Amino acid sequence: MNKRWTIGEIKKFVENNSESKLLTTEYHGFSQKLLLQCACGNQFEKTFKKFKDNNQRKCEVCQPPKTSR
Ligand SMILES: [Zn+2]
Repeated sequence: MNKRWTIGEIKKFVENNSESKLLTTEYHGFSQKLLLQCACGNQFEKTFKKFKDNNQRKCEVCQPPKTSR
């Protein structure tokens, strides 16, 4: 079974596992995009699932999306 995350737990996870900050204050589920602020100052949106499971923990400038090539 999947763990049910609270916004407080996600905030801690973000702070402990990345240099980004969580700006979103409510969490409604894995499909929700969270608003995050990268260490460089850019804001970006990412679902928590991608953030956690796909290691997408920075903005697209610091961590460009992988191309299919
Ligand atoms: Zn960045």
